[in-house]
Amino acid sequence: MAQAPPQPRKPIPVADAVTQPFWDGTKEGELRVQRCQACGNRFFYPRERCPTCLSDKLEWGAVSGKGRIYSFIVVRQPGNPAFNDDVPYIYALIQLDEGMRMNGNVKVDDVESVNIDDRVEVYFDKLSDDIFLPQWRPA
Ligand SMILES: [Zn+2]
Repeated sequence: MAQAPPQPRKPIPVADAVTQPFWDGTKEGELRVQRCQACGNRFFYPRERCPTCLSDKLEWGAVSGKGRIYSFIVVRQPGNPAFNDDVPYIYALIQLDEGMRMNGNVKVDDVESVNIDDRVEVYFDKLSDDIFLPQWRPA
């Protein structure tokens, strides 16, 4: 009798030296972004240098975890079979109240109920002992 194929597993982000403070934050229930100490610019995704002035004097700070849907798609055919049980789901670009954008899933019961500019708030999905993935839900 043939063995069943192994169940596909969802990918888990891997922290590195630049992103570790972000993942430390999500583990503590905070959404953190970088701020440039030279010019004051706050930005996301994590980088080694400020995208505005190229300074490497950066610090991390929490943001509200609130924002609005800037754009989204309804995923009906996942590119990875590990997500087969999740479709349909919302993959969105979130405009944070602080100005930067993050991507993520918006968890809703009815994907047809989602609209551009809907208010959302972050929550964190535990994927492993160290990785808590930011996800979004209607606010
Ligand atoms: Zn800067």
